[in-house]
Amino acid sequence: MSTPIDPAAVVAEFIDAVSPYDPDPGARPVAVVGVRTALGEGVFPLSDHVVRAMCRALASYRDPEDRGTCVECGGRHLDENLHCQDCGRLHGILGQVIAEHAARVAAAAKAEPTGPGGPVDPGEDDR
Ligand SMILES: [Zn+2]
Repeated sequence: MSTPIDPAAVVAEFIDAVSPYDPDPGARPVAVVGVRTALGEGVFPLSDHVVRAMCRALASYRDPEDRGTCVECGGRHLDENLHCQDCGRLHGILGQVIAEHAARVAAAAKAEPTGPGGPVDPGEDDR
């Protein structure tokens, strides 16, 4: 298990990291954010510069677990093998080959005449 992170300390650290570049350091805060957890708490006035820095950080953020969106169900939980955890669809080149093979097998099964175990012929009805 990873070490717990103090959310209030993270907010304070973010503000400290971007504040030196604030072009208008004396401006009134545009928001006040309060953070209270078991690990700590803090109240942070946020300048427009800090909020814009959050926007830029969010725009450049990419989650390490983000492997794209499932083309089958739209889910966002593809594992490291590009296997959708929501619907089971495989992605990537191997997934495409398997999906095409499955489609061919399904089409061939539809085209085959009904064998033993299939629907009963109405002529064999023993009423
Ligand atoms: Zn899916």
